[in-house]
Amino acid sequence: MSTDRLSSMSKEVKPESVSLCPLGTAAAPEQELLCIFGTGDFGRSLGQRLLQSGYRVVYGSRRPHSCGPVPQGAQVMSHAAAAQSASVVFLCIHREHYDFLATLEPQLKGKVLVDVSNNLKKNLYPEANAEYLQRLIPGAHVVKAFNTLSAWALQHGPSDSNRQVYMCANSAAAKQAVAEVATKLGFTVLDRGSLTAARELEDFPLQLFPEWRLPLRVAIGLTTFFFFYVVIRDVVYAYVDQGKDISFRIMVSLANRVFPVVSLIMLSLCYLPGVIAAFLQLYRGTKFRRFPDWLDRWMLCRKQLGLLALGFAFLHVLYTLIIPIRYYVRFKIAASTISKAKENQTSVFDTTTAWRTDSYYSMGILGFGLYLLLGITSLPSVSNALSWREFSFIQSKLGYLTLFFCTFHTYLYGWDKFLRPSYYKWYTPPAYMLCLVVPTVVIVLKLLILLPCVDRSLIRIRHGWERTNPEDDSKKSLLT
Ligand code: NAP
Repeated sequence: MSTDRLSSMSKEVKPESVSLCPLGTAAAPEQELLCIFGTGDFGRSLGQRLLQSGYRVVYGSRRPHSCGPVPQGAQVMSHAAAAQSASVVFLCIHREHYDFLATLEPQLKGKVLVDVSNNLKKNLYPEANAEYLQRLIPGAHVVKAFNTLSAWALQHGPSDSNRQVYMCANSAAAKQAVAEVATKLGFTVLDRGSLTAARELEDFPLQLFPEWRLPLRVAIGLTTFFFFYVVIRDVVYAYVDQGKDISFRIMVSLANRVFPVVSLIMLSLCYLPGVIAAFLQLYRGTKFRRFPDWLDRWMLCRKQLGLLALGFAFLHVLYTLIIPIRYYVRFKIAASTISKAKENQTSVFDTTTAWRTDSYYSMGILGFGLYLLLGITSLPSVSNALSWREFSFIQSKLGYLTLFFCTFHTYLYGWDKFLRPSYYKWYTPPAYMLCLVVPTVVIVLKLLILLPCVDRSLIRIRHGWERTNPEDDSKKSLLT
């Protein structure tokens, strides 16, 4: 292909000369011909895009005269004839049908074979499809590419979510040839190295939100636990203790207890691994030793934990806003007003309560505002526009401030209830008290890290200083 291209370029490019041919009479440069095996969904979509991007397309099919519809302008031939006519062949057929390709070895020798195949399950075969293909036709240059795109995405052109074509191959020239095609179709090429990366590329489309799995499990686990906890403490307790049925409160009141609790715990779980990592580095006296796997995994899903925490905080805000329009609340206010009017009573304005509730709301609003800022800056389009320092200032410094506001909001909500035994039904603390444990621990540990002597040691370690001789620990104490 490269020789074809070079010769066609030498015909077209004439330095220091201008063609004086009238428009329309100049010979148009010949479009490159590409071959596609398989006239199925993917083959058709790929062919259509290639034609739209200025390539000529020839299909290789088992039934050239009775195959399904192909895009207008494409030719259909037998596999052997089609393979012979082009230097790049896209194999848009399933791996189970690759065997027949061995009979085409003479026609495919020296050609670039693009393997777009995926499997239904991980580890279905002992080797990657592309490696199997390379073994089947050793004389060809196999490139794994385009498999992470769907036929639909190909047909509709690259959109934000489908801009990238992952690629791997053993031959740099073959990779270059396919990369040129992908770029011309409007995709960004991401080179993943040699063909040994093919299995990784084939596993991509099988993944279902891998980085969200752990945070979702944590969210579901916490929601389930706290839901049953508040149902037992409120609904079941009221029924057993006072014979009252308040199960209607499950839908709004109890939901609005669970959401903030889960949100606060998940927000603190975003910051806990960072604090643990800092103490681990202080303890080990080096930053050059790997963190345990569980800590690595935890740190890698902080963004997802934070976004889920923001989702729960958002639900809390919405549920809180509808409180005044609830039938139960309106009924209680009306009943209390009427009973006071009947008894000719007035209530005294309590400044302490006013201070407490205003401060509590204010902390909540400030916390939620910062929460939103954290969420927005974690979006790739926004974070890409920030420098690393700006990003870490928002996510770390403002993140801890968010955690502080939200924790303080919860303490103010509790106020003096922490000391009143009547709130500990069946000797259990309310959910909001229980949820304060993790954020309080995180804030206290963070304050310890911020102590000048600890902070100095940590900065030295993070700049590469190492405590080399453990026996001299007492002499070279980090905290001096
Ligand atoms: P498809 O609609 O089933 O088409 C497969 C084509 O393979 C058929 O149209 C047929 O073309 C050919 N074929 C079928 N049996 C054959 C046999 N025994 N021997 C030789 N050729 C045979 O499948 P597809 O959805 O286009 O997928 C094709 C490949 O693209 C698969 O490897 C798939 O994993 C990959 N892929 C698909 C998508 C997608 O969105 N569909 C996305 C990424 C990757 P002829 O009748 O013309 O011979």
